[in-house]
Amino acid sequence: MVLHVTPKGLFCPAGDFHIDPWRPVARALITHGHADHARDGHGAYLATDLAAPVMRHRLGEITLDTIRYGEARQIGDARVSFHPAGHVPGSAQIRVEVGGEVWVVSGDYKLEADPLSTPFETVRCHHFISECTFGLPVFDWPDAAEVAREINTWWSRNAAEGRFSLLGAYALGKAQRVLMMLDPTIGPILTHGAIEATNAVMRAQGLPLPETHHVTPETDLCARQGALVLAPPGALAGPWARRFRPTSTALASGWMRLRGVRRRRAADRGFVLSDHADWAGLNRAIAETGAETIHVTHGYTDIFARWLTEQGYDARVLRTEFTGETLDEAGET
Ligand SMILES: [Zn+2]
Ligand SMILES: [Zn+2]
Repeated sequence: MVLHVTPKGLFCPAGDFHIDPWRPVARALITHGHADHARDGHGAYLATDLAAPVMRHRLGEITLDTIRYGEARQIGDARVSFHPAGHVPGSAQIRVEVGGEVWVVSGDYKLEADPLSTPFETVRCHHFISECTFGLPVFDWPDAAEVAREINTWWSRNAAEGRFSLLGAYALGKAQRVLMMLDPTIGPILTHGAIEATNAVMRAQGLPLPETHHVTPETDLCARQGALVLAPPGALAGPWARRFRPTSTALASGWMRLRGVRRRRAADRGFVLSDHADWAGLNRAIAETGAETIHVTHGYTDIFARWLTEQGYDARVLRTEFTGETLDEAGET
């Protein structure tokens, strides 16, 4: 096997490396900077040059080598390259070729283009290891331009009525994508510290984010009525959010497609916006790889593997420890 799961993670014996391992290893190839993929404690890291700044910010002093999209590298008997996954800035699918057999590890991915991430690229392979976070037909994403209109309409109505618009979005990737959708003529944009820290890293690497104001205890909120406030989903219900009054709260997540989730999370509005492929996107991506064997991980694996088997694929469930996609966090990491 070119790649197989060990207790430490996905391992390539020919190259003696792991991909997105969940226990400390000597050499880790990392698809992207989300916490369940880029973990602490590895001896050496390899990631794209575009993912590196966020990884350094999150993991501190690490031994990190970078690679550009499409650049090939020989590691032992394996030939390795990274290709755009379209999930968040710098995210990659990792292609591993050993003795003419090609495997691709998708990491997390989405097919729809956004202004910050390098667009997803199909990589032909024999074995495709695919996430399937949203691997149910109910998950079909609306057009992002339509979602942007919904968000801005909600915000301008709140602003006109003197309310804050408190919007929950995951700090790495989703929040910046939302920022690019906002109409800054409506009012000021305020940010929670976790989001502002990621914004700073991305601005420093040249991503053109709009102006934002970090909320501190000194921020004069009376002067900012009608502002949009961007925060991680977990901060929406806590004491941090209580200072914004009156307010309307909302979440931006693929999970908003499910009835009841928004209500349980006590949000007034839900915007369907995901950094993952929807049902149609997963099926299209898988078909276009030309792979015969599909290994699925993340989310609705059993149901999705059964569906793929019915479609004629050799589909298998890969037991991994990628944990970020829980409904609880609505974080979709
Ligand atoms: Zn992710
Ligand atoms: Zn993930």
